[in-house]
Formats: sequence, C-alpha cells, structure tokens
Amino acid sequence: MSEYDLLINGKAIRADRHADVLNPSTGTVVGRMPVATVDQTEAAIAAAKAAFPAWSARSSADRAAAVAAIAARIEEKSEELARLLTLEQGKPLGGLGSRFEIGGAVAWTRHTASIDLPVEVLQDTPEGRVELHRKPIGVVASITPWNWPVMIACWHIMPAIRTGNTVVVKPSPFTPLSTIRLVEIINEIVPPGVVNVVTGDNEVGALLTSHPDIGKVVFTGSTPTGRKVMQSASATLKRLTLELGGNDAGIVLADADPQAIAEGLFWGAFINNGQTCAALKRLYVHDSIYEDVCQALAAYAANVKVGDGLVEDNALGPLQNRMQFDIVSDYVRDAVAKGGRVLTGGAPSRGTGYFYPITLIADIDHGADLVDKEQFGPALPIIRYTGLDEAVAKANDNPAGLGGSVWSSDIEKAKAVASRLECGSVWINRHGAIQPNAPFGGVKQSGIGVEFGAEGLRELTTTQSVFI
Ligand code: NAD
Repeated sequence: MSEYDLLINGKAIRADRHADVLNPSTGTVVGRMPVATVDQTEAAIAAAKAAFPAWSARSSADRAAAVAAIAARIEEKSEELARLLTLEQGKPLGGLGSRFEIGGAVAWTRHTASIDLPVEVLQDTPEGRVELHRKPIGVVASITPWNWPVMIACWHIMPAIRTGNTVVVKPSPFTPLSTIRLVEIINEIVPPGVVNVVTGDNEVGALLTSHPDIGKVVFTGSTPTGRKVMQSASATLKRLTLELGGNDAGIVLADADPQAIAEGLFWGAFINNGQTCAALKRLYVHDSIYEDVCQALAAYAANVKVGDGLVEDNALGPLQNRMQFDIVSDYVRDAVAKGGRVLTGGAPSRGTGYFYPITLIADIDHGADLVDKEQFGPALPIIRYTGLDEAVAKANDNPAGLGGSVWSSDIEKAKAVASRLECGSVWINRHGAIQPNAPFGGVKQSGIGVEFGAEGLRELTTTQSVFI
C-alpha cells in the first residue's frame, strides 16, 4: 500500500506517522496519508515565506505562463488524478464525477492564468495622479474539504500564486491523496516553496490559521469550522475568504413544466450525491403542480444508477464518510417521523460502503432537520406552497445564503423572484452551475468574500494607493 509524502520546499518529506485513507465504496485502504508534525508544518510555512520575495517579484506575465503550464500538466495527468479521486472520494469516474471535477480544475486554472489585475488610474489631473496597485499578501494557507478536493484546491491555489503569493495547502484527512498528487504536479512547474502541502489531523489546520507568518486563509468547509478559523485568525488579523455551508432553496413557480425541469432539478440537488456546497437542498413547489413535480422527479431518479465509482455507468457513488452517512440517516428518519411521505429511498442501504439510496421526501415543512439544516447527502425535501410571498419568506428563513434558484416558463417573472432571494448566486431554471468568470460566494452565514474571476483574484491581494 503506498505511503505518501509531504511536499515541502519542492522536496518529498517523509512523515514519521501515516494514517489510512479508506475507499468509501469498499472500506479498503487506498493509500496512507502522511501525518505532519508541528515542526514539519512550521517548515512548510518557512519554505513558503522564503519563496515569497522571488515569486512575488516575477512579472505578472511570467506567473500567468506558469499557471497556464500547470493547467496543461493537470490535463495530461487527468485520468490518473480522476482514478485516485474516485478511489478516495467515492464519486464515479464518469458523469458529474471525477473526470468532470478534474476537467473543472483544468478550466479554472486556465481561466485564472488568463486574467490580470492591471494598475488602475483613479485620477490623472493637473493636481496629481493617483494609481491603485494590487500587491500579493504573502503566505496563503489553503484549507479544503472532502467533497470536491482537487477542484477546490485549484480554486484556492491558482489565484494565490497568479497574484504572487506562496501557498501551504492542507486538504481534508478524508481525501488528502489527490491533493498531494496535484501539488507534486504543480511543483514540476513552480520553484521550490511556492506551493507546499501538509496533511494530517485538524490540528495542522489550526496551526496554519493562528500562525503569524500566514497572511491570509482561504477556507472552504463547514460553517462551524469557519467560525473557528475566523476566531483563530483574529489574533493576527489575517485576511480571510470563507466559503462555508449552504442550504440552497429552489422555488418552482406555478407556470413551470414539471417534465421539462425534472432533470435539472434532479442534478441540481443530487450532483456528487448532494455533497456539494451549492446543491439544491430545499425544494418549494407550487400546490397546483406539486404532485406532478414529485412524480417527474421520482421517475427520473428511478433510472439513475448508484454504485462503486469505478464501474463506468454508475452515476452516483457512496457518501464519503461515516459521519455524513449518519447525518443523512438521522435527518431522513426525523423527516419520516414528522410525517414526511417517502417518494423513493428513505432508509440507509445495507452492506459494504456508505451507500445511501436517492431519497425524495414530500409533504414536509420547516421544523424538520432535513429542511432546516444542511443534509449534504442524497435526500431532498419537497415543500408545498400556495402563496409566492410565503415561498420566498421560507426560502430566506435560514442562516445560510449560498445559492438559490427559481424555475418558471416566464424568465422575467423568475428574475423578479430571484432578486428577492438572500443568496450569493441565483440561477433561473438550473441550480449550482458555477463558472470561472463569475464571482461565487455566500451571504449571511455561508461565508465571507468571493472566489473566481477578477473579483476573486482581488481577494488574494492588498491595495496600495500611489499618489504622484
Ligand atoms: P470541515 O469544516 O469539517 O473541514 C474542512 C477543512 O477544515 C478540513 O481540511 C479539515 O481538516 C479542516 N479543519 C477542521 N477543523 C479545523 C480547525 N479547527 N482549524 C482549521 N482547519 C480545520 O468541512 P467538510 O466536512 O470537509 O466539508 C463539508 C462542508 O463544506 C459542508 O458544510 C459544505 O457545504 C462546505 N463546503 C462549502 C463550499 C463553498 O464553496 N461554500 C464548498 C465545498 C464545501
């Protein structure tokens, strides 16, 4: 079984201790994660700090070329990365699974190479010239979750190095191996110390978020951990981007066509088995078409294959870990106890692996965990409404504010409803389709700051106003 190494200052560093990384489909060991010590984490931060002056002094064009070269290299290695990702994360190779994720990693990396933050002239008059310059922050800590580990690592790392920062990345202990491999690939292009990876327990993350030599933390994960990160970073006033949990609502208006929207609704909710920050997690459907939408969704779900991700025609895999499997099981049990009507699924699968069937629960309302909390799994609550004001109020009645969607045959009407939703991204007749040129981030307790595009790039910089 292969034991992976840390990658610090361009070199593979052996750890004294390793921990098993398990395949969630089979329970077998995929590989062994190095557990970094405090000294090794300190060494990674020191390497990034030492690499910063030279990397930040390079021209923007130079760094753009390096990021573009990384995109090409990830693309060359995409099948190897996809297989490793399926083994440790569980998602299928095909469909919206591992190949899709690695394709996304390439697309985001390539787009990040193509954008820039040129000097802005704020004033040029006889009284004087004022320029706004963007400067890199220093060492950026990237802390990533287990749902889309490779793509999210690229969302963090590429804008950081594109703008001249150096990075220490810490992946989730559930899915560290594909990130280690990604950082090895990146190190074929960038100088030693520019991108380092440390893996291990949550304590490694906590050390990064409190360390005085880290200038910024980019964190993607749950809202409770996001609060800890913010608290820990406060002593040294680090810059923060926090991409946290969501509980996205979708509202289906009375004029929508149930057959036409069923596929979009399904994948909006069930992409990556619902283990997606901006997945559709609560569906509100107008009373007049409620049963038709329920039937259309159940009929679509009946043809979706769930199983081991290495089997090519499976479209969904298992849940990634025991903790998530237990959360989904508990929330569905609670929903059924509160009178929810099971359209399909409804109970955990028996046997090996964290497989949970596609579950649709109708006749449910606020007050059940499946509605009020983030299920992060393949179980969708479908809530009936009669008045649009009621639907909007319920959609907004949640501390999260990541994404939302409105489904209708009338685009103008849908846009008017969309503007009333309290969320950072909103889609019409689809859900969760993010892209590298549009800022993405949460409002309310779904986070602080945005990623992607020039707006996202700015978050990896500080401003310097130059008065001439
Ligand atoms: P998590 O918060 O448990 O862990 C995220 C990362 O933080 C892991 O690398 C973990 O090891 C690390 N960590 C844990 N404790 C820490 C601490 N005290 N200090 C520093 N780091 C620490 O989240 P998860 O379970 O891996 O991911 C699922 C959550 O992530 C869901 O809530 C989901 O909605 C959210 N998410 C959000 C987005 C987004 O863009 N908004 C994207 C993906 C996932």
